[in-house]
Amino acid sequence: VIPYARQTISDEDIEAVKLVLNSDFLTQGPAVPRFENEIKAYCNVDYVVATNSATSALHIACLGLGVGLGDLVWTSPNSFVASANCALYCGADVDFVDIDSSTMNLCVKNLAAKLKQGKIPKVLIAVHFAGSSCDMRSIKMLSNQYGFKIIEDASHSIGGSYLDNKIGSCKFSDVTIFSFHPVKIITTGEGGALLTNNQEIADRATLYRSHGINRALTSYDENNKPWFYEQTELGYNYRMTDIHAALGLSQLKRIDEFIDKRRKIASLYEDEISSLGLKLPELNKSIGSAYHLYVIQIPDITEEQKLFIVEGLKDLGVGTNVHYIPIHLHPYYKALGFNNGDFPNAEKYYCEALSLPMYPALTRKDIEFICSSLKVILKQALN
Ligand SMILES: *Cc1c(COP(=O)(O)O)cnc(C)c1O
Repeated sequence: VIPYARQTISDEDIEAVKLVLNSDFLTQGPAVPRFENEIKAYCNVDYVVATNSATSALHIACLGLGVGLGDLVWTSPNSFVASANCALYCGADVDFVDIDSSTMNLCVKNLAAKLKQGKIPKVLIAVHFAGSSCDMRSIKMLSNQYGFKIIEDASHSIGGSYLDNKIGSCKFSDVTIFSFHPVKIITTGEGGALLTNNQEIADRATLYRSHGINRALTSYDENNKPWFYEQTELGYNYRMTDIHAALGLSQLKRIDEFIDKRRKIASLYEDEISSLGLKLPELNKSIGSAYHLYVIQIPDITEEQKLFIVEGLKDLGVGTNVHYIPIHLHPYYKALGFNNGDFPNAEKYYCEALSLPMYPALTRKDIEFICSSLKVILKQALN
């Protein structure tokens, strides 16, 4: 079966990991700061804190921005649950801003309208869905007007760009988060990173990453005891290991190649299926996208038809997925008071959406096979 997503591992990647296994450091050693420095240079940002996942990076980003009990955090309902859970970890309340049905990102008009109603979030988490940036310039203008902070959840979009800046530059945000999960653009197995131009946020994130203890930040013990350290915050063990960082360093060398391949795959899809009456990602509108996902929308399809298509494609050897079940419809969030109908654009989009396979190793033949299978199954499902 062709999976919907897959990592791309080379012999060089394997050698890079082997070198670490034979070295003195397995967990955070020299490879982690090297990986952080390479991301810093690639994204043109001042500080990078590598973590063991994007989820933990989101958590310490919220903590670094002072999110706590009773604060309000807003994000997009069309995302992975981690985009919202990070606020709950801090004791904050979560709410959502419905998406724009043409970009699938949170809608700036809805954001402006929600802000006018009076409640102002402490932090807005803007998710760059499928790899294309949110309208960060407009979001930044609203943040200046209302005083909320901005985290970019760029789990889908390392390697992408926005207005001539690489995503991660934090030109229009306080913090950006990347994920290095195997389905994402580059992988470390599990891993993530927090990027910021604010030294205080970077220092706090570094503390939270390692138990609230950091020897480098410790006020020096008066007696110069070499074993001395002190815990000043309640932190976590969110460190990346050198094994993961070595894989990340090796992968990062090929990131532009990966994205170029993804862009070509998106354009092959468009050539093959643009005549089927589906809603496809608009390639001209997604300039700068990292092309993490290729989501087609099948207008007015029923759940039974969608199930038929997903299973039919699987039987033919084509894996698909659906991104995303709106966060507010998960039982945990419904128990917090959310309901069907709260964010209608995200809900309608979810009913119609289907993610086709998208990863660099897909060949032209694979794409032709996926598309001819899709044509056969669609015909059976919709007739
Ligand atoms: C994958 C993903 C995450 C979580 O990333 P992990 O590295 O698996 O913790 C968070 N947000 C979005 C939008 C994601 O796609």
